[in-house]
Amino acid sequence: MILYFNFKIYSSNIQDLDQKRIINRIKLIKNKINKLNVILPIQKHTNKILNLSELFYKDLNYLDKLKILETGFDGIYFDKNDLYLLEYFGLGVLTADCLPIIIFIFQDNLNNEIYINNNWLSNFIMGGILHAGWKGIFYGIIYNFFKILNNYIKNSHVLRIFVYIGPSIRSCCYEVKPDFINQNNISKEFYYLKNNKIYLNLIDIAKKQIDNSIKNIKANIQKTELIDKNECTYCSNKYFSYRKGHKTERNITVLYL
Ligand SMILES: [Zn+2]
Repeated sequence: MILYFNFKIYSSNIQDLDQKRIINRIKLIKNKINKLNVILPIQKHTNKILNLSELFYKDLNYLDKLKILETGFDGIYFDKNDLYLLEYFGLGVLTADCLPIIIFIFQDNLNNEIYINNNWLSNFIMGGILHAGWKGIFYGIIYNFFKILNNYIKNSHVLRIFVYIGPSIRSCCYEVKPDFINQNNISKEFYYLKNNKIYLNLIDIAKKQIDNSIKNIKANIQKTELIDKNECTYCSNKYFSYRKGHKTERNITVLYL
């Protein structure tokens, strides 16, 4: 479990019981983090990010809320007003080689005092959790997150940005075909050749997109911290990996307070 201020992040591993069935995943994880429930978007490798408020504050019945979820989202974002919900619910994404990405944005006009007492709470602006495989990344889910952020900030803001990248397939194991490189127009800096095979560094592509997005933010950036878990789902035995044959099991990354 990783802790930022009061935020907690839990990544399930292969020893966490049977994860083939969704009902088991949710049961497992809500017990682990001791919350009422876990909200998992119905992921479809899109670039769409669900606003948590839409699920809770909109005057919708349960079925309509389910319909919202079923349209397919690959991320959830929330702002300061939604924070209390994270005391009752975990926000999660499922992955098995794709990247789980968590981003927090704080206002940082108080220099380093953000770390003291409960200032983090008053300085929190918004955050989100994303499921980002190659499709989501090329369709722009990371850029979309930062577009949403732009609705929350003003030019005068000074921001502090935290990014967490969880266990995912890394360039040691992510073999792709030449066609894949050509069709997606992937720049040379993001892949290498070994024994006539091509290996892709999707994490560096994600990091580059994060960097580009941050450069385009209209506010001043005081500091960006990126925590890369630096674990490969394929060659580590700790996680499920789609490419290694775990077609139905998933790793869960969940964010809560
Ligand atoms: Zn590996």
